[in-house]
Amino acid sequence: MKHLKSIFSLILFCLILSACKSSNKTIVEDDMINTWVEEDDNMPKNIILMIGDGMGLTQISAGMYRLGNQTNLEKFPVVGLQKTHAGDELITDSAASATAIATGQKTYNGAIGVDMDTLPLYTFLEEAEDNELATGLVATSTIVHATPASFISHNPYRRNYEEIAADFLKTEVDLFIGGGKKYFDNREDEQNLLEQFGDDYQISHFVEAELEDIIIDPDKNFGYLTSNKDPLPVSQGRDYLLTAAKKSVDHLAKRSDKGFFLMIEGSQIDWGGHANDMEYIISEFIEFNTVIGEIFEFAKEDGETLVVVTADHETGGFAIQTESTMDTLVGSFTTGKHSGTMVPLFAYGPGSEHFAGIYENTEIYHKMRQAIGWSENKDNEK
Ligand code: MG
Ligand code: ZN
Repeated sequence: MKHLKSIFSLILFCLILSACKSSNKTIVEDDMINTWVEEDDNMPKNIILMIGDGMGLTQISAGMYRLGNQTNLEKFPVVGLQKTHAGDELITDSAASATAIATGQKTYNGAIGVDMDTLPLYTFLEEAEDNELATGLVATSTIVHATPASFISHNPYRRNYEEIAADFLKTEVDLFIGGGKKYFDNREDEQNLLEQFGDDYQISHFVEAELEDIIIDPDKNFGYLTSNKDPLPVSQGRDYLLTAAKKSVDHLAKRSDKGFFLMIEGSQIDWGGHANDMEYIISEFIEFNTVIGEIFEFAKEDGETLVVVTADHETGGFAIQTESTMDTLVGSFTTGKHSGTMVPLFAYGPGSEHFAGIYENTEIYHKMRQAIGWSENKDNEK
């Protein structure tokens, strides 16, 4: 009798547990294939990943103090820390770290979307394309530079810019905006890739038109090259990132009802770090901060967008010195290269809860996949 009673209470407990578990899920019927699929209420439709290259805590702090002790990153409710080390060295470069974020695998410094054995890896952007999401890449470096390249290209070496440019023709990316026109149309092989994109693409560049004057055709993919080589620093007049971010979100939202994946990079915070130039870092951060604010407002309004802001690594071993005041910052640097410190991550929107805590940079890929509901077990060798 006592035995029977405990079995009964166990069954009751299981029933309550399963009722609780299913209460936060909605069951939707898919007419087309006549099967039942579970859809989590808290799944994002869109993911916007923002990478501040070389944007460690001191870079953020310096920018924040310059802005009167405030940054748009304070709006993000979920904060995490990520470990940046590469597959072959403690101190990562932007290629290995962007590949880790884009593919979930640690690799060697210099690797673009390939593993330790130089084999191509299936990237988050490619998987988004295959799942019929719209995809986009925006950078304030050249678009073939390590960070954006690692999401769309597969190359054993980051400086093979012309080969990386050719990879843009292999993925149906819906939008790309960044510098590096010459890697597409002034190449050693004398091919003009800009002409090879074909009728599916609306392609333009800085010689032809200002980005803000272009009306993007929602029925086509869009590519715009902002400069011939590297884009200028903000301090020398570069000002397209906010326009690019607004146009990207607008265009990608029109391209697919299944959602979109957009990566926006504040590329030159890193270059300020390499130059040990605090004012360079601050001006690049302030621009990125403005775009973070814009994207945050879009996501808040939209309600179906997960925003993740992070860095690939810290640059410069940057510190704010003891003689500093809020108005007069004194910076110092321990290196002209990258450092090995953990970097912060900020998340907002559906699925953001996955990003609290301390984890490897490769987890960002897995957390994004988990958030958007793609299957857990996947072999991503291409
Ligand atoms: Mg970069
Ligand atoms: Zn760097």
